[in-house]
Amino acid sequence: MDMRKKIAAGNWKMNLDLEEAQKLASEVAAMVKDEYIGQAEVILAPPFPFLVPVHRLVSDVSNIHVAAQNLHEQEAGAYTGEVSASMIKSSGASHCILGHSERRQYFGEDNALLANKIDQALANGLTVIYCLGETLEERESGVTAEVVGRQLAEGCFHLDASAWNRLVIAYEPIWAIGTGLTATPEQAQEVHHYLRIKLATQYGDAVAQATPILYGGSVKPANAGVLFSQPDIDGGLVGGASLKARDFVEIIKAL
Ligand code: PEP
Repeated sequence: MDMRKKIAAGNWKMNLDLEEAQKLASEVAAMVKDEYIGQAEVILAPPFPFLVPVHRLVSDVSNIHVAAQNLHEQEAGAYTGEVSASMIKSSGASHCILGHSERRQYFGEDNALLANKIDQALANGLTVIYCLGETLEERESGVTAEVVGRQLAEGCFHLDASAWNRLVIAYEPIWAIGTGLTATPEQAQEVHHYLRIKLATQYGDAVAQATPILYGGSVKPANAGVLFSQPDIDGGLVGGASLKARDFVEIIKAL
């Protein structure tokens, strides 16, 4: 029996202005309310300045939640330009994406730093969407399992089993992000299954079976259904296609 939550999360990255963000959030909320019937969780991850207005626009739709795309690893203080977990929580957001490959690549975030960010997020009552994935070179040299296994272990295995009800894993092969290349459903399933076995070995079956593992990398309406039909794929982390309300809602419906 499938006990796991089904989740579609839209990562808006550094796109849209306030007006566009509000329009997109309103459209998604209206479509989800009018058209979608089910248990799936919908998460919108706008840039920091739009967390509050987006949360206001979706707060009456019970299965839509708001996520930040990053946070700072310290609680508070003299860190000009940074945003803390408690600020995000107080904005109305309930989730935070951490470890996105763009953060790892352009901002030098490594597993040790991400472990601290995860602690901050959890200590402030946020649910974490922790991203991991291999580069094309790593896939081609046959070290995918080793790379994602290390990202999972070094980022998360310091946590107690009890923390896992507020953790979601997102497998995002870097070569498939924003490139139009999608992992085949079988390629994605193989990695998701591997991650679930790693979880089972570390924490036991209950945690492994309850933890949602999302796939990300050029998910669109045309490929969402076949990806989500894989046994260990519990939803998607969606970039480009989440910027169009109709496309994102079609992906939600594929859950
Ligand atoms: C992402 O950045 O998380 C992502 C999956 O992007 P895209 O869907 O555009 O490939």
